[in-house]
Amino acid sequence: MTASCPVCGCEQAESLLCHADTTALERELGDVAAIVADLDISLSKQARIGNAGQPGLARERTPINVGAMMAADVLGNTLTTWARDIGEIRLLGYEDSSRFAAAFLLNHVPEIRRHPAVVELVDEITDAIRQARRAVDRPADRIFVGPCMAENPDDEGRLVTCLEDLYARTNAAEVRCKVCATEHPVAERRAWLLEQARDRLFTVREAAQMMGDVGGIKVTEASIRGYIHRGRIAYHTGTVIRLGDLLTVVVNDGERKGAA
Ligand SMILES: [Zn+2]
Ligand SMILES: [Zn+2]
Repeated sequence: MTASCPVCGCEQAESLLCHADTTALERELGDVAAIVADLDISLSKQARIGNAGQPGLARERTPINVGAMMAADVLGNTLTTWARDIGEIRLLGYEDSSRFAAAFLLNHVPEIRRHPAVVELVDEITDAIRQARRAVDRPADRIFVGPCMAENPDDEGRLVTCLEDLYARTNAAEVRCKVCATEHPVAERRAWLLEQARDRLFTVREAAQMMGDVGGIKVTEASIRGYIHRGRIAYHTGTVIRLGDLLTVVVNDGERKGAA
């Protein structure tokens, strides 16, 4: 029996991850700091726009980049999960977890090369990095509408969930996955995205933007302030509200109007 690289199948002593695949992974991990910095810029740009008392900035209305938000989460989760799998890692603040975990993984290349699940490790990490790059380079005329999640049979007939991120044209009703060609109604994707963001905290302006840009539901800042004023929504901390609280109120009002 000849030993081979578990990823590419080339001949490889002790069935370790081969040098070419190791180098490729190292290059990807080395890029994480730069990608995270790019994601941070796109996230902090929208945070700044959400700040009250800066009327100049309010005019350059940038749609909230949910793609960057979710890609940053996925990247952080993937890298820290694998880092924890490899060894003892003490994570500092949430902000730095991706960078920190990538550096940790780069310091444990010998363990990665002989890891029994190295195929999954390489697959998941390169995929998370690729999607994060895409979130940064998102074309201006497209909106992120979440991962595909369609289940398709593979060569052996097993169902595999497609995790490709979808970007719809601004006014399109349907979006087609580039990888598995499944067509998704954009309205359904928008509703799903809002659900995913239920526990996230936003300023009133950001919440109105989230509802409009992401959910396609028009709620003005004034009506959100009205909900807060009447005690139907409470500030979570300081001046931010939980998106899920707003969603519940909006959906209830919608149903009441429908029933009347
Ligand atoms: Zn290989
Ligand atoms: Zn797909």
